[in-house]
Amino acid sequence: MYRVAPPKDRRGFDVAIICALVFEAHAIEYMFDSFWHEQPEDRQYGKLPEDENTYRLGVISNHNVVLTYMPSMGKSFAASATSSLGLSFPNIKLALVVGICGGVPSSGSSSNGNKEIFLGDIVISDEIVTVPVSNREVRTFLHKLKGPRGYNRLIERSHHHLADLQKERRDEYLYPPRQYDRLFESSYHHTHRRSSNCKACKEKSFSKTAHDATCEVLKCNWRRLVNRSRSTTEGIDVHFGRIASGDKVMKSSIDRNQIAKDADLIAFEMESAGVHDNLPCIVVKGVCDYADSHKDKLWQRCSAGGAAACTKVLLEQWVSVDQANDGHRQPETPSLLTTPPKQPQASTPIINTAVTLQHRRNEEFLKADYCKA
Ligand SMILES: [Zn+2]
Ligand SMILES: [Zn+2]
Repeated sequence: MYRVAPPKDRRGFDVAIICALVFEAHAIEYMFDSFWHEQPEDRQYGKLPEDENTYRLGVISNHNVVLTYMPSMGKSFAASATSSLGLSFPNIKLALVVGICGGVPSSGSSSNGNKEIFLGDIVISDEIVTVPVSNREVRTFLHKLKGPRGYNRLIERSHHHLADLQKERRDEYLYPPRQYDRLFESSYHHTHRRSSNCKACKEKSFSKTAHDATCEVLKCNWRRLVNRSRSTTEGIDVHFGRIASGDKVMKSSIDRNQIAKDADLIAFEMESAGVHDNLPCIVVKGVCDYADSHKDKLWQRCSAGGAAACTKVLLEQWVSVDQANDGHRQPETPSLLTTPPKQPQASTPIINTAVTLQHRRNEEFLKADYCKA
């Protein structure tokens, strides 16, 4: 067992976590075991003058981690944030793109064993379409995680960290009851109904008011829901597979199905292509919608929490390269700097708990800009 000492300088950081949205980064903040440079007397690490990023530095699962906040979502922001990151922190060996994404419900993707994907599940990229994972170290690391032993540990420890997060911030990261996991038939769209006078919907063009309204408000027909239930145990699942990184939010079930089938995909997101050009990269994202028109922000926070918990487990398994005599790692001794690692224990995240929707849909939550690109 090792504890991590503060690195001498920025070269001592070898893992970066990149989040596009504020609440994605906040979920990650709860996964830090300790932070560096929080107190005025702490060592300051600085950054290069041309680097406009904002960082939080600290330790997650024995790794010195740079949490990078992006100004907004999308590939170009991700690309510029990552290239600045590489200037200030030249030894980053792994970039984790963490947050929320749209999942492909019945992916039929052989890569994840044709498993059904549900809201709140976590997807991990073993390939980012159009960019195959070419980094050998990342590829073999994923092979280790996907084996039966690695996979069981990933699930068990993700639940453990998620349960901790929910205990600490109960109202933010609780999973909604399963009846709010709604998948509509792909031919059934989220639109104003006949009784409304919305011109855009009648002309089948994009209607912002329809887009921003919930299924309850638009009275989407619950009889057009696809009846599905998880065959395996309750709780969240983790899926490995090909994830598409695009320039736009996917919000059409017909396009989703077609593209997912053609490219053998399990999810859609918008940042990793920009990161992958600069750094070896893995996407770890919680599925907060089905990449269709019936988007609802209800699952965003908890999915970001699930992805953050899973990221912590990935970093428990990721092995850093030894750094020669820079005080990067020292044998375990009692220390005031870090909290002792928590022992694995059986804990269940709180899922399917009755939770008042009104409370979850607070203003800030509704203003998250995921659907507005
Ligand atoms: Zn309309
Ligand atoms: Zn709807």
